[in-house]
Amino acid sequence: SGAKMRQGRALRSGKYMDPEADVKFSDVAGLGNIRVELEEIVDFFTHAEKFRRRGSRIPTGILLCGEPGVGKTLLAKAVAGEAGVNFFAISASQFVEIYVGVGASRVRSLYSEANQNAPAVVFIDELDAVGRTRGLTAGSGGQERDSTLNQLLTCLDGFEGKGQVITIAATNRPDILDPALVRPGRFDRKIYIPKPSLQGRIEILQVHAKSKPMGEGIDYRAVGQITAGMAGAQLAHIVDVAALAALRDGRTEVTTDDLLEAAQNEEGGQPDLHIRSDRVRRILALQEASMAAMAANCPDMEDIQLMSIVPRMGEEKGFVRFKADPLKFGYLESISRQGFLDHITVQLAPRAADELWNGADQISTVASDNVDIARKAARSFVRAGHSDRKDEDVDVEAQKILESCYARALEYLERNRSFVNVLVDRLLEKGSIWRPEFLQLVEQYAVLDKRRSSP
Ligand code: ADP
Repeated sequence: SGAKMRQGRALRSGKYMDPEADVKFSDVAGLGNIRVELEEIVDFFTHAEKFRRRGSRIPTGILLCGEPGVGKTLLAKAVAGEAGVNFFAISASQFVEIYVGVGASRVRSLYSEANQNAPAVVFIDELDAVGRTRGLTAGSGGQERDSTLNQLLTCLDGFEGKGQVITIAATNRPDILDPALVRPGRFDRKIYIPKPSLQGRIEILQVHAKSKPMGEGIDYRAVGQITAGMAGAQLAHIVDVAALAALRDGRTEVTTDDLLEAAQNEEGGQPDLHIRSDRVRRILALQEASMAAMAANCPDMEDIQLMSIVPRMGEEKGFVRFKADPLKFGYLESISRQGFLDHITVQLAPRAADELWNGADQISTVASDNVDIARKAARSFVRAGHSDRKDEDVDVEAQKILESCYARALEYLERNRSFVNVLVDRLLEKGSIWRPEFLQLVEQYAVLDKRRSSP
């Protein structure tokens, strides 16, 4: 696709591009008419000339409103994927910085990158983090937010790129956005993404089941019926957990019962320590603990805020949340060489932990997802340096990187067995570990590399 072909060139200067966002509308299910509205946006890209000749106004900004996990990010990626244009993403929470002027300069570089690589979709998650009504926020933080917001307005009001760069923003709080943002010519199209209906839930379950070894005659309707009120992210999670359960039982096919059990455990995604089976909680705890332990040894990855195995709305599985959350879009904001390698190593930690704790033949799908992320990151890393490489060469080079990072993860985790065990026990006992406690445990138990004195 066009996006794929352009990525090599763009990545060299790119901080915000997500080169692996190869999502199509067929990956997004259960949204009925909303998909049609977004197909129109794709049309603006693919038939820009036609719209201009007719004198139709091409939208600058689209606001996707809805609760976490309903598919806003996925839809934005699909618009870019279908139009074959580049995709740039950032979370507005990353605009709100401690240092004055940093937010505004991030907005500028985001848009300058997008313009250089137009046509493009710019995706801004959590728009309300920067677009809150001005004046509501007191103190210097508020002032910084104003300068960032003003810069964003300037960029939206645009320049040559108009019609070539469309911004899609997501928020769950359209009600608190600064009115300047939703004026004509800015985010003047608002699309509500509701939670899926019964039919929608069935379709979403089916889309996610496609990549899993499902048995014959699965009763998706039954699963749809007991998952009322859940968002797409939770439904995707149910399918994952069901597949994991089948695998752990040594079965080759996922059954309706696996899905029903996973759905019951999901329970509206409310935080509750006891809704997951012990087995699943242990798998997740080892995954999160190994990643966090590994990250403690990586200068670019260490700013862990919270790790948890408690399911929350919109969160998949357990999670380790980093301060700037570089993993949210599947790419690293900082592309220093070491940062990239650290990112890959952290993603390989769950697989290495599987091998060390459970034996080499125990493959959890949870770890496979991380390995996928690592492999993609390794490929982007290789391509970033040499956009002209052939795919086979990229794969060979990426594989070498994966292997050396994996070796590093194995070596480090072996050395830190008791540290990881402490993290696992704490997670199983309490569900979550917040930063202060994590730092304390690092201090007490971690055996870091020499170059790292303290986290
Ligand atoms: P949001 O941006 O609204 O918080 P995301 O787009 O990040 O939600 O959704 C998280 C994940 O949940 C997606 O990557 C996808 O796996 C799944 N998901 C959510 N909504 C849908 C949907 N309508 N169809 C298929 N998968 C979905």
